[in-house]
Amino acid sequence: MARVVLKNLTKKFKDVVAVDDVSIDIQDKEFAVLVGPSGCGKTTTLRAIAGLEEVTSGEIYIEEKLVNDIPPKDRDIAMVFQNYALYPHMDVYNNMAFGLKLRKFPKKEIDQRVQEAAEILGIEKLLKRRPKELSGGQRQRVAVGRAIVRKPKVFLFDEPLSNLDAKLRVAMRTEISKLYHRLGATIIYVTHDQIEAMTMATRIFILNDGKLQQDGRPLDVYQDPTNQFVAGFIGSPAMNFFPSKLLKEGSDYLIDAESFKLKLPSAFHKAIAAHAGKEVTFGVRPEDFHDKQFYPNAKPENTIKAQADVIEPLGDEVLFYLVCGKHNLVAKLDSRTKVKVGDEIEVALEMEETHIFDGENEKTLV
Ligand code: ATP
Repeated sequence: MARVVLKNLTKKFKDVVAVDDVSIDIQDKEFAVLVGPSGCGKTTTLRAIAGLEEVTSGEIYIEEKLVNDIPPKDRDIAMVFQNYALYPHMDVYNNMAFGLKLRKFPKKEIDQRVQEAAEILGIEKLLKRRPKELSGGQRQRVAVGRAIVRKPKVFLFDEPLSNLDAKLRVAMRTEISKLYHRLGATIIYVTHDQIEAMTMATRIFILNDGKLQQDGRPLDVYQDPTNQFVAGFIGSPAMNFFPSKLLKEGSDYLIDAESFKLKLPSAFHKAIAAHAGKEVTFGVRPEDFHDKQFYPNAKPENTIKAQADVIEPLGDEVLFYLVCGKHNLVAKLDSRTKVKVGDEIEVALEMEETHIFDGENEKTLV
């Protein structure tokens, strides 16, 4: 059971707290993705799991065994780095075989493992080539192959796709997902790219400023972000935020963003009642705006008027960058929308899908 557990992990570099009291529990055969903006402590966490970084405090368990004092080579893990650092003077076969040779594996076993990994990765025909004779994607496969031949319990990936161009990145993303299903191993994968995280992970762990913000299945985190940071980080284009005041009028609660006022659904009342009269942030995902014309539930109380500033057709949908009073917002609308730049448009909000965050501590109220 290759479960990986971090208990209150902290890593300081002098006065920089790179990882701040992080506790995570990665189950056997999980595809865990650590995601967050640059400098949030992802790589340091991964390197601590690998044993490449001594921790300041806290415990790391691999397969229920405390590994804090166990050297990297004895942790039964394999790491694939961003700069895959293949040996330039060795061919693909020897790049993959190198680690096993160092560990004095018998030649026959090495040969069998390299052939098997090459077949899994579709690089059987490249075994005699040197790294400089390979494309970026092929090199990345060899780097993964080097990890596979070790047959580790846990694979650690540190931004392995960030050196590849956009198209190749998408292709490799699918390949790594397939590989995960085929290998049946635990994977811990670090990226700053939330799309990579959402599409590959069985569980994502979102970090900011060295602290774990939230973990969960990707769609659960998307639908129920724990705070404004997570809400803004997961999702592309990002959620729109409107600093607002929460008003109570009779038995109704309203969002007052100055440029618009909207009535909140009664399902929200219990969660927001204590915040009446206070500052809050109103959050709306781009896809929760609709062109009024194509939205049968449009009513004056859930509709706002805005001006089209920039229009980006994506094919089936169109991104509209709109201006509403002092607010800029992005809406993902039906491609039948006929509005042109400079025109006024009425957009209806799917109010049940919107979010409200505490104006002070930024925690999600609803
Ligand atoms: P990126 O996506 O940019 O790689 P990251 O989330 O992986 O970022 P880390 O590399 O873990 O972030 O760094 C976390 C913090 O620790 C940063 O503020 C970084 O500057 C600092 N840090 C990392 N390594 C060292 C080091 N060897 N010495 C001093 N500070 C360091």
